[in-house]
Amino acid sequence: MVRKNECVRYCEKLGVSFVDGDYDHAFWRETVKGLEDEPERGARCRQCFGLRMRATAKVAQKLGIEHFTTTLAGSRWKRQNQIREAANEAASLFPGTAYWDKDWRKGGLQERRKEIIQSEQFYNQLWCGCEFSMGHLLKRPESDLPSYILDMIPTIKAREDRLSAKTEAEKTEGVASAEEKKA
Ligand code: SF4
Repeated sequence: MVRKNECVRYCEKLGVSFVDGDYDHAFWRETVKGLEDEPERGARCRQCFGLRMRATAKVAQKLGIEHFTTTLAGSRWKRQNQIREAANEAASLFPGTAYWDKDWRKGGLQERRKEIIQSEQFYNQLWCGCEFSMGHLLKRPESDLPSYILDMIPTIKAREDRLSAKTEAEKTEGVASAEEKKA
């Protein structure tokens, strides 16, 4: 919601229309079902991109907009090939649209991005956006974290502990099965 409000504010400033593609969390959870434990940049993110890009291409088609792009493509935390694949797939589902496949991290665009973030004092979110992407916040000093995140730390920690235990169990199982095969 905070990021959406920032977007609305910026569009108003630029005099650009804002189309609200507010997302449906329950539908998103259904889309990524079974992939909750995937790491960031893994299969869950690919599904997430697919959902977002289909929604974007659908609106673009409805409004007669030929090319669409995404702020995801400017992030160094995202796999560009996953975004590209999801966006091209979405464009193929909505004829008349095409993905503007530009590398927003090159040609001085990252620097321009930083300038805009600073001059507009945009909110800087410390994690990607979903509840499964908050684990790395545990590596930050608590003094860096806002109070609403501090309140969530026990839940985030419990999930990370569960994932570590699961990975450990899978490793042990793998070693046992390899030894069984050798025997
Ligand atoms: S919100 Fe971010 S981390 Fe979560 S599934 Fe989507 S792309 Fe991946």
